[in-house]
Amino acid sequence: MMNRRQFLRAATGAAMFVRIPNIFAAMPSKYDLLIKGGRVINPARKFNAVSDVAISNGRIVKIESNISADAAETIDASGKLVAPGLIDIHVHALRVKEGPALCLADGVTGFIDAGSQGADRIGEVIAIAKTAPQPCRMLINIGRAGILTEGDTMDLSRADVGAAREAIARNRDFVVGVKARLSRDVAGPNDFEVLRRAQEVASSFKMPVMIHMGQTISPLPKLLALLKRGDIVTHMFAPPPNSIIDDDGHILPEVIAARKRGVWFDFGNGRNGHFTWEIVDRVLKAGFLPDTLSTDWTLEGRTAQVFDFPNVMSKFLTLGMPVDRVVSLVTINASRDFDVFRGRGTLNVGAPADVAVLELKEGAFEFVDNFGNTRNGSQKLFPSVTVLAGKKVTTHA
Ligand SMILES: [Zn+2]
Repeated sequence: MMNRRQFLRAATGAAMFVRIPNIFAAMPSKYDLLIKGGRVINPARKFNAVSDVAISNGRIVKIESNISADAAETIDASGKLVAPGLIDIHVHALRVKEGPALCLADGVTGFIDAGSQGADRIGEVIAIAKTAPQPCRMLINIGRAGILTEGDTMDLSRADVGAAREAIARNRDFVVGVKARLSRDVAGPNDFEVLRRAQEVASSFKMPVMIHMGQTISPLPKLLALLKRGDIVTHMFAPPPNSIIDDDGHILPEVIAARKRGVWFDFGNGRNGHFTWEIVDRVLKAGFLPDTLSTDWTLEGRTAQVFDFPNVMSKFLTLGMPVDRVVSLVTINASRDFDVFRGRGTLNVGAPADVAVLELKEGAFEFVDNFGNTRNGSQKLFPSVTVLAGKKVTTHA
């Protein structure tokens, strides 16, 4: 008779002769989280099918129909969409301490705060970013005092290259680009010089610039000429003056050239003067689709026009864009704009398990542009469950 220790030693020894793959096969395949029965949309693989998603150790480990193994937690997603966690590249969520959690509940597992603060008070948004559950970064406003009702850079001395550079150098982990708001009520006649300075700052750190376009004093082609590969134009559907499309329905050649050299064009919903249905119709008809959708999220926007990211996405369903395409604009496409999101925006096996479970409801829904014009749609996306780094974080009722 062997005693217990001898038995264990013999058993362990015996196990060493077993081929390694069989050892793994004998292990119980238990997952941390299983998302069952939803329509999985993974644009990175052009995948759109009813499937289960298995998650362990914060990563996607398997996508298959009918995964039968047990899991510590299961989410019933039947009748719902299972998308990669949403990435919103234009928000102002770091202006309020509850911003990141509110966005997370809407399915947003990564975001960029686009210019809420300038050099003088960048520490305030960084402090909130440090408490955010999801990965987030910020663009520094080239106006050193941030967003001002009288216009961020109406006083040109506020576009302070030295101050911005110093603030970035102190905060390289959080500041990933420079924001230049250029419309006539923000920069006035300074728009070109403000952008030139923003680019001077960004280029020295090899960072992108995001411009807020539309209703500028300088013609758009003059401004676009200053943009380099990787820069972003937000509010791409801004109405004239200085829209991206001319009166005859042609996209400006300088806009097409900018896209060709790698400038991204972003929706940027917002609330004030940034888009009309008429311009969206004409631009889409001309075949110039957005690279990304974003909300321009603020607390005020939660109660009007913007509401949440799924609502903003729904506007493009109403415009006839297929749901896979809409999802791609807010996941894989958005992940390409900033290094912090590299490897995110997908449900590929091995990717971080950030997931937005959304409900696509049929009904009569009204959507509004920034000028009070309405559009009626028959489908609308609602946030349902968010998974961040493999953990279920919020459930909407
Ligand atoms: Zn904004």
